[in-house]
Amino acid sequence: MPDEHLKIGVLAVQGNFREHAAVLRRLCAEPVEVRKVEQLEGLDGLIIPGGESTAIARLLRIYGLEEAIRRFAGPVFGTCAGMILLDRDHLGLVDLTVSRNAYGRQVASFEADIDLAGEDEPLRGVFIRAPRVAETGPQVAVLAKLDDEPVLLRQGRFLVASFHPELTDDTRVHERFLELVREETSVRA
Ligand code: GLN
Repeated sequence: MPDEHLKIGVLAVQGNFREHAAVLRRLCAEPVEVRKVEQLEGLDGLIIPGGESTAIARLLRIYGLEEAIRRFAGPVFGTCAGMILLDRDHLGLVDLTVSRNAYGRQVASFEADIDLAGEDEPLRGVFIRAPRVAETGPQVAVLAKLDDEPVLLRQGRFLVASFHPELTDDTRVHERFLELVREETSVRA
């Protein structure tokens, strides 16, 4: 269901933030580019896009956004580099560890159909120098797998994907995130 009043921040320091903003607009949510701490105020959710996690991590520190994102109380969706940033070794918000660029040189980037829990239609996953999930804590639920390895996971208000759902026309993963945001906003209201 389209939802005109959901305001979703998209961390816009580096990487695929424009593509995420475009998907949000298609789903009638309002994207807000986030580069400063104060821009996190009043948001219903936040997306941390793919890109280069080392660059994004450095910019987060420079802009003072690291602590601000840790304090952000709403749902957060991290894709690819965004998933790396949320893991135990970075922001420490999701109880998982990943290996960066772990699909090897030959197949560093590829597309594959992945099965989404609860759906018949597979999802086309675009993997670009993707991280591989190495370990997950007990609170982490696996929502989609590729070759028996988790590629879409949820821990409470956090959703993480090792692929790029913003690069295909299939909006189902973003729809799931907006559902999560709607659930959380009704709980907090
Ligand atoms: N390889 C990148 C990293 O380690 C992630 C790639 C991506 O976000 N597409 O940060």
